[in-house]
Amino acid sequence: MIDIAIIGGGPAGLAAGLYAARGGASTVLFEEVFVGGQAAKTPRIDNYPGFTDGIEGSELGIRMHDQAVRFGLDIRYEPVDGLDLAYPTKSVQTAHGCVLSKTVILSMGASPKKLNLKNEDSFVGAGLSYCASCDGAFFRNKEVCVIGGGDTALQDALYLARFAKKVYLIHRRNEFRGCKLLQSSVLAENNIEVLWSHVATELLGEGAIEGIRLRHIESNTIKELVLSGVFIAVGIEPRTDLVRGQLQLSTEGYIKTDEAMRTALAGVYAAGDARETPLRQVVTAVSDGAVAATSALEYLSTLKQAASN
Ligand SMILES: Cc1cc2nc3c(=O)[nH]c(=O)nc-3n(C[C@H](O)[C@H](O)[C@H](O)COP(=O)(O)OP(=O)(O)OC[C@H]3O[C@@H](n4cnc5c(N)ncnc54)[C@H](O)[C@@H]3O)c2cc1C
Repeated sequence: MIDIAIIGGGPAGLAAGLYAARGGASTVLFEEVFVGGQAAKTPRIDNYPGFTDGIEGSELGIRMHDQAVRFGLDIRYEPVDGLDLAYPTKSVQTAHGCVLSKTVILSMGASPKKLNLKNEDSFVGAGLSYCASCDGAFFRNKEVCVIGGGDTALQDALYLARFAKKVYLIHRRNEFRGCKLLQSSVLAENNIEVLWSHVATELLGEGAIEGIRLRHIESNTIKELVLSGVFIAVGIEPRTDLVRGQLQLSTEGYIKTDEAMRTALAGVYAAGDARETPLRQVVTAVSDGAVAATSALEYLSTLKQAASN
């Protein structure tokens, strides 16, 4: 039996792994794809302290990985498909078998929200993307659109403007919220055109994206754009299906914790974007991970003390 199982290798899980392994606990981190999580999908992280000129998201993930592995973190690239969090021994199930652990840190993060347009799934990889930094380079000299109005949508539009001939930014409101610097950069960019008060109603194309149909919210006017790519950036949703029914979740599906990252179940902690929290960023995810691992280490010492009495 291991001391700590960590589910998810984004910034929260990697920070938890660093603190747990460095704290002397036998720790296994399970990651289904690659370390770095959502952060690895962004070309530049400018607001993580310590990197004066910013850092590429994937590079930050690799550095966090290497640092945690230096202290003995065991990382296994296996998706977790089942969890039993009941007291006292927890079990983590993957296609390779079952690992028993005294504690579990849940850091499965979040994933992009869909628009739920007809045929949305069938266009993924055929001109439709939820990650501008992953797929933007495929659209060199093409016309594309970004749907959304938050900071991620603005960042995506700016990133795509470096490759694409033209970027339409489709926003359902008539003003942006969020970072003013990003807003002014978008509005100053020659090849970005903002289409205010528009919503997407249909993806157009035979087998691959060829355009999009839009509706103006106030006038109900319909407009069609001929496009090669559509990038959806309308927010994220938590990846907490694994624990539904075992733990208390918010109405949006985020895991509820106290400030020490403890859930209502003894020995079970949550960290990062999967948790109900006011800010979802790399800096808060790593902080959560460190706190969760510290709480898990404290719990392990109480178990040890109880066993020796
Ligand atoms: C496009 C984009 C740009 C961003 N830009 C910034 C920025 O500039 N600055 C900033 O601070 N933040 C930024 N963020 C937000 C930041 O990336 C997240 O807040 C942060 O990555 C959250 O870390 P996390 O570890 O909680 O979750 P995640 O990063 O979501 O990582 C969760 C990990 O868990 C894994 N996982 C999930 N389920 C399972 C399972 N069942 N089994 C195994 N593994 C599993 C996933 O594969 C993933 O690797 C950005 C996010 C996006 C999407």
